[in-house]
Parts: sequence; C-alpha cells; structure tokens
Amino acid sequence: MLLDAFPDHIEGRAATDQEVLRVHRPALLELLRSIDRPVQLEPNTVASETSYGAAMLAAGTAIEAVLRDGFALVRPPGHHAPPDRAFGFCLLNNVAIALEAARAEGVGRVAIVDFDVHHGNGTQDVFWDDESVLYASLHQFAPFFFPGTGGPDEQRETTINVPLPPGSGDPEWLDAFDTHVAPAVRRFDPELLVVSAGFDAHEAEDLYRADQRVTEEGFRELARRCAALAPRVAAVLEGGYNLQTLPRLVTAALEGFSA
Ligand SMILES: [Zn+2]
Repeated sequence: MLLDAFPDHIEGRAATDQEVLRVHRPALLELLRSIDRPVQLEPNTVASETSYGAAMLAAGTAIEAVLRDGFALVRPPGHHAPPDRAFGFCLLNNVAIALEAARAEGVGRVAIVDFDVHHGNGTQDVFWDDESVLYASLHQFAPFFFPGTGGPDEQRETTINVPLPPGSGDPEWLDAFDTHVAPAVRRFDPELLVVSAGFDAHEAEDLYRADQRVTEEGFRELARRCAALAPRVAAVLEGGYNLQTLPRLVTAALEGFSA
C-alpha cells in the first residue's frame, strides 16, 4: 500500500563486504555470517540464520537510497551499531555504511540528522573523530532510557546531542531542531544530509519507556526542515515499532522531504 503511493520506488540490493568493511570490523561480519540458529547477541539484540542476509540487504539498500537522494525502507535499523558489534536491534550501521559509499563516490562534507527517539550511539562512535562528518541527534534522555548516551555533556564541534525530557511533543522537538540542529548543520554547510529517520518518538509508540508526543504532522515538518538544510537529502529508516502508525509516519516524512 505504501509503495503503491510511490511508483518510482526500486528494489534494494545487498551490500558487499568491501562496503561494510569501510565501517565495521571484519570480526563482526564474520560473526553475523556464521549464525546458523537463533542467538542472543546482547540483551536487546537477537539474530538467526536469516539475519546476515537481512542486514546486508538493509545496508546495500541504504547505499542505493543515499546515492540517489532517496529513502531506504529497511530493517533491521542501524544507528546503535558501532564498528565492532551488534547492539540495540542493530546489526550493521546502515547510515554510516551508506555515507561512506557516498564519500567513495566523491561526496565531501556530509551531515547526519538523527530524529529517532533513541540516541544513535553507534553512528556517533563511527564519526566521533571525523571532522568531515557532522552528527546531530535529537532524542529522549532520561534515567534508564536506552542507550543512556547522548547527554548534555556529550558534545563536540561535529557532534551535536540534543537530549529531550520525556513528554516532549511537536513544539519542543521543532524548537530544539531550530535552536540546535539547524544552525549547526547550516554552519557545517554539507553537500549531503543523511537522515536517520526513526519514528519511535511518535505519540502512539509503544516501545518500552519511549515517551514522546511527536505527531504525524510533526514528522512531516521535521522532514521538511531537514530538506531545507542541504542541496541533497536522503533518509534511512531507523526505529518506529507501532506497525499501525509507521506507514502513515513514513509517508508524512516522504511528503516533508519532497515538499
Ligand atoms: Zn529508536
């Protein structure tokens, strides 16, 4: 139904080892490839014999979406995965892998805006020491809320964390975007903006402890404001686990990106 509304969609493809290894350690790829039965990789992350294929397909599809300024509708998500391990539902860091593919094609300065309700600790780790990539994240920050990183003191020139208290809605998210994210991205002046588009800050999200009040219109507006920040914008799906609302929210974001 969702795809019928976007007739120019294309099928994704699997990433190659070389594309993944620009971001991840070989041992992680070997581990994922070796899984032949259901396993728990860490408390929040399970995998099975089909997970390696799904992760490679998500990463490769993210690459294709970013190279053509599209939106990668993929699972598993990626922004919690640092270079050396699977973490927080994430097996491979799709956004980081796609960004590196864009750089291999000659794109220079790239900014990432992450509006998933959780802090993208993995993406932050990948680019912490890389001043040619700006990472800006809006997320819920509260005691015992996953993953616990991205607090007010975790900032540097090219890492902007905007922690929001539980109960924040459209006014708080859009104000935080305008006050902290938009000026930093404009100053950075990227050629390409990649959005880690998670929808678990929605008011109807039922994931454990996620307590934000962003509406469908709020996501449309966040996407519109992202698109205004760079000559090229692409997005990759992260979280958002209420399957009743997710299609509407993705559609709203697609409308915002192309407004
Ligand atoms: Zn999330």
